[in-house]
Amino acid sequence: MVSRKQLSPNALKVLYRLKDAGYDAYLVGGCIRDILLGLEPKDFDVVTNATPEQIKKQFRNCRLIGRRFRLAHIMFGREIIEVATMRGHHSDEEQDEKNKSQASEQGQLLRDNVYGSIDEDAERRDFSINALYYSINDFSIHDFAGGMEAIKNRRIELIGDPETRYREDPVRMLRAVRFATKLDMTIAPATEKPMFQLASLLGNIPAARLFEEMLKLFLNGKAEANFHLLRQYGLFTYLFPALDKLVNKHPDGTEYQLVTQVLKNTDKRINAGKKVTPAYLIAAFLWYPLQSLSNRITAQGETPFNAFNMAMNQILSESAKSLAVPKRFTIGAREIWQLQHRFDKRGGQRAFRLTQQPRFRAAKDFFCLRAQFEPELAELAKWWDNYTEQDAGSQKRMVSDLNKGAKSGGNYRRRRPRKAKSNNAKRHD
Ligand code: ATP
Ligand code: MG
Repeated sequence: MVSRKQLSPNALKVLYRLKDAGYDAYLVGGCIRDILLGLEPKDFDVVTNATPEQIKKQFRNCRLIGRRFRLAHIMFGREIIEVATMRGHHSDEEQDEKNKSQASEQGQLLRDNVYGSIDEDAERRDFSINALYYSINDFSIHDFAGGMEAIKNRRIELIGDPETRYREDPVRMLRAVRFATKLDMTIAPATEKPMFQLASLLGNIPAARLFEEMLKLFLNGKAEANFHLLRQYGLFTYLFPALDKLVNKHPDGTEYQLVTQVLKNTDKRINAGKKVTPAYLIAAFLWYPLQSLSNRITAQGETPFNAFNMAMNQILSESAKSLAVPKRFTIGAREIWQLQHRFDKRGGQRAFRLTQQPRFRAAKDFFCLRAQFEPELAELAKWWDNYTEQDAGSQKRMVSDLNKGAKSGGNYRRRRPRKAKSNNAKRHD
C-alpha cells in the first residue's frame, strides 16, 4: 500500500543501513499517515531498536540531539532524517535509579529516555493515526493501535486513556487540533471530552515550546481553521490571552474580524508557497490588546507617544509569559507597530522615506488590512495602495497634489521649522 517510490531516497538509505547492521528499522508517524491519506509527507521519521550511540556509529553524517527526548539526526544536505530509538514504559525503579524518565506533579513527562519494544513504542505515541510503522523487512505496515481504521474513519483518537495522555503532555491538545484541521478529520468524542477541563494544563508548558507549536498551528496553511477550533476548546487563551479576552468581550468585533482576515490571508500566502514572517503574525495578534492598553495609559495622562511605547513594552512582556517569541520577531513586530503612526504623514519627503523603512511592506499591508475594519483609515489606505504602484515621478506628483489640497483646506500641514534638535516626542501627536 506504500510504494518505495513515495519514500524519500535518503530515508530508504537510513532504513537499509540500519537493517544491514542487524537492527530493526521502521518509518513511522506523519510520513506513513500522510502517504496513506494521499498527502505529501513533510519529513520522514525513522524508529529503530538501536540506541542513539549505536545509530551514531552507523553514520558519518549523524548528530545526537535533545535532552528531554534524545534522538539522532542524519543529515543529507538540506534533508534531515530523524532517527529515534523505540521508547518503552517507565517503571518507578527506573525513575529513581537512573533518572531516565521523570514526571511532574501533574503527571507531565519531563524526561523520556527509557527504551523499549515496538509495541511499547506504539503505545507511547499520541494518536492512533501516528502509530503506523512501515517495515523495510517486509515492506508492510504494522498497525498496533487501530490507526488504519482511524484513517478510514478520519478520526483523531488518542492511544490509551485520553485524560492520562493529556496530563503526560498537554501539548497533545494542540496537536489534536492541528491534525484535525490539517487532515480534515474529526476529533473522536472520548479524545475531545477531557480537553475542556484540562486546557489549563497548557499553562505548565515552557513558553519556548508553546511558541514552536504556535508556529506550527498558524504557518501551516490552516491558520484560520486552527484559530476557530482552538477557541472552541478554550485553548487559544494559553497562546494569546490578551487577544482572547478582547474577542470574548466582543465576539464579532473588529478584533475578531481583523484576526480572522489576517489568518485567511496568511493561509492564502502559505498555500501559494509564499512566506509569512512570525513578526507579522505577532504584530497582528497583539495589535488590539496594544491599542486598548495604550488608550488606557493615555487616559491616565500620558502623551499618546509615550503611552504607545509603554504599552508595547508591557504587551510584549505580558505575552512572553505564555509564548517565548524570539527577539528578532518582537523587534519586527515593534517596527510594524511603530510605522502604523506614520502613514498619515506624507508631505515633503516623508512618504518616500517611509517606503525606505525595512518593514515598510509588512507595515503597509497591515495598515491596509486595518483599513478594512477601521473606516476612518480607508481613504488613506487607498492613497497608499495607489502610491506604492506609481513610478517616482507620479509619486512626487501625488505628494505635491496633497500640498495643493492643504492650501485649500486638505490634511497636509507644512512642517514647522524645527526648534529643538530632537522633537521625537511630537512625532505621534
Ligand atoms: P507533522 O510532521 O506533519 O506535523 P508528525 O506526526 O510527523 O506530523 P511530529 O511532531 O513530526 O508529527 O512527530 C512525529 C511522531 O512522533 C508523531 O507522528 C507521533 O507518533 C510522535 N509524537 C510527536 N509528538 C508527540 C507527543 N507530544 N506525544 C506522543 N507522541 C508524539
Ligand atoms: Mg513529522
